[in-house]
Amino acid sequence: MNYISTRGTAPVLNFEETMLTGLARDGGLYLPETIPTLSADEIAALGGLSYEETAFRIMRPFVSDSFSDDEFRGLIDKAYAGFNHAARAPLKQLAPNHFLLELFHGPTLAFKDFAMQLIGQLFQAALERSGERVTIVGATSGDTGSAAIEAFKGLSNVDVFILFPHGRVSEVQRRQMTTPSESNVHALAVTGDFDTCQARVKDMFNDFEFRDRVGLAGVNSINFARVLAQVVYYFSSAVSLGAPQREVSFTVPTGNFGDIFAGYLAKRMGLPIDRLVIATNQNDILDRCMKAGDYTPDGVTPSISPSMDIQVSSNFERALFEAYGRDGGAVAQLMDEMKAGGFKVSQGALEALRETYDSGRCSEAETMATIKRVLASSGELLCPHGAVGVKVAEELRDPAVPMITLATAHPAKFPDAVEEASGIRPALPPHMADLFEREERVTRIEDDLSAIEALIEERRGS
Ligand SMILES: *Cc1c(COP(=O)(O)O)cnc(C)c1O
Repeated sequence: MNYISTRGTAPVLNFEETMLTGLARDGGLYLPETIPTLSADEIAALGGLSYEETAFRIMRPFVSDSFSDDEFRGLIDKAYAGFNHAARAPLKQLAPNHFLLELFHGPTLAFKDFAMQLIGQLFQAALERSGERVTIVGATSGDTGSAAIEAFKGLSNVDVFILFPHGRVSEVQRRQMTTPSESNVHALAVTGDFDTCQARVKDMFNDFEFRDRVGLAGVNSINFARVLAQVVYYFSSAVSLGAPQREVSFTVPTGNFGDIFAGYLAKRMGLPIDRLVIATNQNDILDRCMKAGDYTPDGVTPSISPSMDIQVSSNFERALFEAYGRDGGAVAQLMDEMKAGGFKVSQGALEALRETYDSGRCSEAETMATIKRVLASSGELLCPHGAVGVKVAEELRDPAVPMITLATAHPAKFPDAVEEASGIRPALPPHMADLFEREERVTRIEDDLSAIEALIEERRGS
């Protein structure tokens, strides 16, 4: 399987190279040259399988010869062994024909663990084989950072540097990043918002001299391996509700568009998905773009669903690439316009997007009200991100088609907002019960590329 860049000019790579590279050298994001499909019989045969076996069958065609079947199976098993639910991604019913996909039973209590635990295993296997050492840098709105640190801490051929927006993540999220004591883990609190952190990470990737000197690798959802791992739970949940005989729809609380793009891939692979619904918080650029075709960021407003406080949505570039008929030149031009403030999506591309995606937004007050109402009607305590999804799903769903809303984090990651909304303070699970007693280790740093690069050079092992 070959991988190509959304901007059309970076070298074509295989799976392992794509995973270790992250961002393409032309600034684009990698995608498979062709999207493999599963027949209706192959999809039906997933019924009743373990999550791990489903994961193997879904991802195998994308990985081709980068890992042998036995090795890949073994790495998948290890990746999900630390989850504390036997189903890995259990489905709960909220209301007639409305289901919640709980994606928060991994070690850091957010859906990011599904991909990060797996790529931790895949990186380790690939680096052990080659003897190489890499420096992983990632930007986080809160959950990617803790998931990456959990997956890579203590590994001998990896340093991991996480840039998070100072003062804009929840205390649980911050402590998950600052309390691991392994010396290859480095949490950097950057002055700015998530978009600032993500821009500095992209700058480092575009500084080729630095990139090559420190062996930069990226684990943000610009990394295709992350998106791929998330395709699996679209299949496992849809099949448990009757796919491929029965169509389902999904609503996805969205920020950087990685999770929902995995749903698009599942649909292209043959899973009968009716609608993919984009759910945003008050940082609603994706909803506005779907409605009016104009993508012009106007600054992030902090919300109670901080993991979606994003205006520069990286993976939307992948959706645009598809909507523009895989025209890398057209995408490169849009991204140039973006540097000058924003861009307009062509009418044809907008229609192509609307064939697949619906969209809605949820205000802060609606998020709080939804947490309270869903607790009363179903007993389910939602985190604010899941609540954004449920609210938008209720508004847009077709009652005749099963709707699966993704619950992207555990409520205990956001105890203040959840308590204010519901009166219940959700407790951390036992393995994290002493989080507030652990010692923190964090470096405060200004939004200054050369200072960040100098710090990484100084701190990384060799
Ligand atoms: C990362 C995250 C999101 C947004 O996911 P994207 O793939 O960036 O769209 C939503 N909810 C939670 C809890 C997250 O951690």
